[in-house]
Amino acid sequence: MDFDWPTYFECAACGAEFPANAVQYDDLGYPECPECEARTGPLASLEAVEAAESGIAE
Ligand SMILES: [Zn+2]
Repeated sequence: MDFDWPTYFECAACGAEFPANAVQYDDLGYPECPECEARTGPLASLEAVEAAESGIAE
């Protein structure tokens, strides 16, 4: 069964998308958005994701 990891990074904070190889990672391995420099990850992205979801809640 194939599972394709996304080849792009989508910032949870600003929604910008970049090629995965264009994204820098911090010491913890979390990707940092080249656009807004937001660090997203299991912890850091929670607020951004919740904010985004609240904006598109049905
Ligand atoms: Zn961003």
